[in-house]
Amino acid sequence: MTARILDGNALAAKVREDIAKDARVLTEQGIQPCLAVILVGENPASSVYVRNKVAACEKAGFRSLKFVFASDVLPEIVFAKIAELNADPSVHGILVQLPLPKHFSEDQVLEAILPTKDVDGFHAENFGLLLQGRKAFYPCTPWGVMKMLASEDVVIKGAEAVVIGRSNIVGKPMAVMLLAQGATVTICHSQTKDLSFHTRRADIVVAAVGRPKFLTGDMIKPGAVVVDVGINRLQEGPDAGKLCGDVDFESAKEVASLITPVPGGVGPMTITMLLANTLESARRVAAKAAGN
Ligand code: NAD
Repeated sequence: MTARILDGNALAAKVREDIAKDARVLTEQGIQPCLAVILVGENPASSVYVRNKVAACEKAGFRSLKFVFASDVLPEIVFAKIAELNADPSVHGILVQLPLPKHFSEDQVLEAILPTKDVDGFHAENFGLLLQGRKAFYPCTPWGVMKMLASEDVVIKGAEAVVIGRSNIVGKPMAVMLLAQGATVTICHSQTKDLSFHTRRADIVVAAVGRPKFLTGDMIKPGAVVVDVGINRLQEGPDAGKLCGDVDFESAKEVASLITPVPGGVGPMTITMLLANTLESARRVAAKAAGN
């Protein structure tokens, strides 16, 4: 069997077109969706992510604000900027690019953002709402994965789903979202004893590990749906410098029924869901202004 490829670029382009249309309507009503991004330090990967987010906002007709601080900035200065953006009614989403330098507490920074502007969905309040199955801003990467599965009518209800990785931004919320839609979910992680035992009985496997080509074809149940969240840069070999996922695409695609590639899979959907959350935040402001 050779798997169908789930094209994240194509899906993202389609969803972003709808987002841009809705943003135009809101802007005509006097509320232009606006995302503020804060970057601390010169991490090259973070700078690229921020640049891509700003470009995506502008392409969708959003206003975007970018604040860059030196890596040795005092935390108080960043907290003051967050407070200013929290209080600014024309700003609908605030994002602090992670990772932050060591002298910051990431938890404290994320919790300083108003939950109603936390379009990354990382605030404990939004995470708690997600756990309870209530309306919230959901973390963009796992939410993007859910949209990808929905776009292909993947049956989640009753499915055995295995999530590899238990981070707060991908693995845990991914598992909660699959659970909310009726999957039986197993979360595997670095202490899991026999990973293949779990992955081989999964109808849906999501790999969010951060290790290149970690999940190989022999670890996958024939016909499974394989979602590759990983973004790794190969360090050696003929493809050194190129991006690759956590899944060994070549062997996995011969066993799976549907697979996401890297690049061009989950990545484009992550930024798309960031736009969707920012739009939703602006919509809520518009509804409030209209007295709804
Ligand atoms: P993380 O380092 O916070 O978490 C990695 C997880 O993998 C941990 O929970 C760990 O327990 C687990 N793990 C490590 N070794 C393992 C092993 N041998 N067996 C089983 N589990 C193991 O990483 P993260 O932030 O969750 O990101 C995971 C990957 O997804 C990274 O490659 C990251 O770059 C990528 N990512 C992609 C997007 C996107 O938009 N596509 C967004 C966020 C993260």
